[in-house]
Amino acid sequence: MPERRFYTDVSRYFDRAAAFTDYPAGLLDQIKRCNSLYRFDFPARQRDGSIEVVRAWRAEHSQHRLPVKGGIRYSAEVDEDEVMALAALMTYKCAIVEVPFGGAKGAIQVDTRRYDVEQLERITRRYTYELTRKEFIGPAVDVPAPDYGTGQREMAWIADTYQSLHPGQIDALGCVTGKPESQGGVNGRVEATGRGLFYVLQEACAQADDMQRLGLATGLEGKRIVVQGFGKVGYWAAQCCHDAGARVVAIAEHDGAIADPRGLDPARVRAHFGARGTILQFPGATTSADRAAALAIDCDVLIPAALENQLTAANAPRVRARIVLEGANGPTTPEADAVLRERGALVVPDVYANAGGVIVSYFEWLKNLSHVRFGRLEARYQAHAEDRLLRAVERATGARLAADERAAVVRPVDELTIVNSGLEETMVTAYHQIRDLMHETEGIDDLRTAAFLLAIRRVAQAYLERGVFP
Ligand code: NAD
Repeated sequence: MPERRFYTDVSRYFDRAAAFTDYPAGLLDQIKRCNSLYRFDFPARQRDGSIEVVRAWRAEHSQHRLPVKGGIRYSAEVDEDEVMALAALMTYKCAIVEVPFGGAKGAIQVDTRRYDVEQLERITRRYTYELTRKEFIGPAVDVPAPDYGTGQREMAWIADTYQSLHPGQIDALGCVTGKPESQGGVNGRVEATGRGLFYVLQEACAQADDMQRLGLATGLEGKRIVVQGFGKVGYWAAQCCHDAGARVVAIAEHDGAIADPRGLDPARVRAHFGARGTILQFPGATTSADRAAALAIDCDVLIPAALENQLTAANAPRVRARIVLEGANGPTTPEADAVLRERGALVVPDVYANAGGVIVSYFEWLKNLSHVRFGRLEARYQAHAEDRLLRAVERATGARLAADERAAVVRPVDELTIVNSGLEETMVTAYHQIRDLMHETEGIDDLRTAAFLLAIRRVAQAYLERGVFP
């Protein structure tokens, strides 16, 4: 097993960008360090009846803005270094997309396959109880969300446990995001990270000069995409890109890969995955037991959406994609990053590209604090206003719209539409802020360094405004 060094890798990216600032060393050190780390152990009964002591963490990397925010990961391989690295990425990510949170991350070191649902529920509730005892959770202090190995189900257990421990706390539902809609969740959170990746790719592919440099046609349509990891992030990224006319030519999972140069239908692959427990043997596609080979398939865009350390110095020279869109956190080691940059590939970094989840989590948290669904107050008002405007135009022109033409314009806006437009606006705005910063800073020629520089400036500003570093 190679030595883990995810936190060191994130720090290297930080240092590379920090060199383009003249902040005092102490301020940079404060931004970089993980401020609080809570590690605890508790017993859990496994499927076979035996007791295992489970290790868990919550890392709060930076409290320069409160609450801090970050997902919870369930994985047998997770360790302290990984949790701290993921928490650090959350600090920078929130700053880049201007979500007013500090960064955090949590994890439980479990192999979820060794537990049944009731046991996982008990583990999740115990984890929440431990976080509550130490005030490492709460709508004003620290708000977890889903990550690798967790989803709506776990978030509902967390919300329920927290609420039961805080009777009468009116904003208690804001203690966690990624909840089911029936439990205070927001429409569009499940697909948010994948959809965010799609908005990023669409914007990147719309830059004619960048595409020309990469030898690609402008626009997303027809782009050949390979996705590694077909979970929440990978599936939704594939689905949204497919819907926009891109071609998903290969998908890699933990047990192998499938490929079809004519394009795979993500929804059908997902149904196959759900029914069989594997994407392999998908009808009409070629199956390979070698999951790593998919990274080297000839394609335009590679979306690593599984775990960290997937693109390394060893395999990066074989990557043929012109665009690497980082859905996972930390999929590219600094050595692999250097190889890809050397080759002139466009690497859209995790610290920005997969921010869709936290952006929509922010919307969910706002919804929980305001206790009102997005669009509830203004939806009808807006539809009536549009109707009056259309009638005025009809009167002035003498023309008359058909019922379906009218319905296409006049419709009460729903929560999902509002959430998706907020997500798109945030992703597109940040893309140009990062790209502009890259162009205007001498010595920076990659989006990752520019994204980190943007984050450092914003976090530093927050400290300086509070007078912490006069
Ligand atoms: P998930 O658990 O829903 O899915 C991950 C998938 O990757 C699983 O299907 C798993 O079998 C597969 N996988 C594991 N190892 C693999 C390998 N070596 N090759 C190919 N596939 C492999 O997790 P997720 O929520 O989609 O998260 C994936 C990544 O995206 C993580 O790095 C996570 O931190 C990051 N991320 C997630 C979110 C979110 O909102 N869920 C937000 C930002 C970033």
